[in-house]
Amino acid sequence: MGKKNNRFFMDGAGTGLMGLVLSICLFVPAFAATADYEDAVSLGHSASDQARRMLNVEWPASGVIVVTNAGYAMPGEHSTKGCLDGISDATGATVGSSTLLTLQSRFDQPLWFAFFVRKTGQCAYLEYKTDVVAKVLGGVETEVKNTVVSQVARIDAKYLFAHPDEFSAALKKGLFGRNAFRIVTTVNAAARNCGSDILKAVQVHDHFCPGVTSGIVMANYIRHRLLQSPNTNCFVLSLTPWCKEDALTSLLNATPGKRAYGVLYPTKKQQAAWPEPLNKVCTVIFTQQKGQPWHGHMLGFDFAQAKKAYGTKSFGNSVLDKLHADIWFLENMERAESLVQPLKDFTLASGKTPKTLLQPGVDLIGLLQKM
Ligand SMILES: [Zn+2]
Repeated sequence: MGKKNNRFFMDGAGTGLMGLVLSICLFVPAFAATADYEDAVSLGHSASDQARRMLNVEWPASGVIVVTNAGYAMPGEHSTKGCLDGISDATGATVGSSTLLTLQSRFDQPLWFAFFVRKTGQCAYLEYKTDVVAKVLGGVETEVKNTVVSQVARIDAKYLFAHPDEFSAALKKGLFGRNAFRIVTTVNAAARNCGSDILKAVQVHDHFCPGVTSGIVMANYIRHRLLQSPNTNCFVLSLTPWCKEDALTSLLNATPGKRAYGVLYPTKKQQAAWPEPLNKVCTVIFTQQKGQPWHGHMLGFDFAQAKKAYGTKSFGNSVLDKLHADIWFLENMERAESLVQPLKDFTLASGKTPKTLLQPGVDLIGLLQKM
């Protein structure tokens, strides 16, 4: 065996040495947490304790759903991820059962938690001052003495639809800070045991709305009709972006960073002036089998038809109007796939890729028109 090979095939002495290294490694603690982990765990515990008193319940409780931006918010550059372990330990909510949900948020946003009890529809909301939490997570203070916002409200959909004026008044008074829409829509989806793919898109999008739902429905359509195998390449080109993009990019893992996503931002006027069927196309899905040309599928989404199905009932409150539409979609996910309109299919010339259509100086709409 040559010298080069000896690096890969160890002799007896080498294996012995490897065994020693392995045994040393086994005595290293199972995980190495960051310095702020323990403080974050205890913050999760104390938040759960405060919510327990506010809701007058006992933890662990079945039917609890916790929604938070812990894991994303970083007060004073400290991680808040450990809060999730504290909350899970105290309340019994878990990531795996979709009862502990994290909504994507920017690192500099205030840390907040919402504890929802399915049986009563009551939700306790806690929001913290960033500088105060930073001191606790940095070990300067031992506990959070004051939350900025601590509120309890009943927010199950059935109750809210029956009391829209009460809800509107509560919103005006600052219910759940800037997070009321996020919390109300997310807990009502999770309370209906919706699929984890729906919740995945909702968590990335940071709220549940008819727009992101249309993206989830389109992702289902693509999954069921356009992706032949796990090896089928997929590129998403959105001609008219809206909330659906967050569902398409997350569920199809078609992100710009992986060069699998492109987007235009036309005005309504520009889009209306595009020729048929481009004026109705919201997204073009490109698929490709290895070594084969790329196929393009121009898709529309028939919101007018959707609105006919879920009705024009208005609660005089846009959060409730959206929640009402969301629930219709949740209950009709399979049927909703018929709202996706296949407008035109085409094939790119050999050697052309969706990326070549998006190069600077290329007349994308002109090219698509000729397809
Ligand atoms: Zn949205």
